[in-house]
Amino acid sequence: MVHCTAHEGVCADGGGEHPACSACLEACGSCGRIICNRHAEQSKADAPKGSRRLCAACLRYCEGGTNEPVGVDEVAQCASCGRSVCTAHQAVCAVDEQVQCSRHLRRADGSGRLVCEQHREACVAEPEAVFAADEVSSCPVCGKTACARHQAACGYCGRQVCTADLVQQTGRCATCGRLETAEPPEDVVAALLATAPSGKRSWRMARDRTHVVLELNLGWRRRTVFTLPHGASEPDGVVTH
Ligand SMILES: [Zn+2]
Ligand SMILES: [Zn+2]
Ligand SMILES: [Zn+2]
Ligand SMILES: [Zn+2]
Ligand SMILES: [Zn+2]
Ligand SMILES: [Zn+2]
Ligand SMILES: [Zn+2]
Ligand SMILES: [Zn+2]
Repeated sequence: MVHCTAHEGVCADGGGEHPACSACLEACGSCGRIICNRHAEQSKADAPKGSRRLCAACLRYCEGGTNEPVGVDEVAQCASCGRSVCTAHQAVCAVDEQVQCSRHLRRADGSGRLVCEQHREACVAEPEAVFAADEVSSCPVCGKTACARHQAACGYCGRQVCTADLVQQTGRCATCGRLETAEPPEDVVAALLATAPSGKRSWRMARDRTHVVLELNLGWRRRTVFTLPHGASEPDGVVTH
């Protein structure tokens, strides 16, 4: 571009400073450096901070929208794909609150919360529905995730299990329904009982995905049910009936 030397100024962009006509020079709306028209781009009025003049160092393209020019101070990186997305075209995952571009977010069916791919879960009873990771929990019997509507507490061991593993007639989970007479190893007994009970006692046991369920029978129809997580030295549940 030809310019008159009477109005000569300096543009900060274009591979080092270069002379330019002062009529073409104006500050970048983001960093404030003086740049010429040729090295500036104007963002649109619907950009988060409105229409601004942007220098090459401050210019980004929003990859979550229409690839529109935006300032570096208007974008964040999508936690899933690393692309720049402007504040108008980004949203946060409801579980970890990280910025995501629209491509990676979906609404959970029940709650309507936005969740990223990593924090999307299903319920074993309704595989089509989308849930946020914190809206489901894994069933200790089958290990599959179930939503709050499709889990219930076992009336015997007290654990939350999926409705498929809860036997309707007894109100007990499938594991409690198949307890078998067995003598647990001594170290397990020691872990469960601070003091060995005197008199007659018998045990019934069953194991599932996450626990060994042990029922201690001390006679007089008194039963204590322990749930001992695999690899743990202490039970995470004790229920006396
Ligand atoms: Zn700038
Ligand atoms: Zn320039
Ligand atoms: Zn993304
Ligand atoms: Zn955008
Ligand atoms: Zn997430
Ligand atoms: Zn289950
Ligand atoms: Zn469900
Ligand atoms: Zn149970």
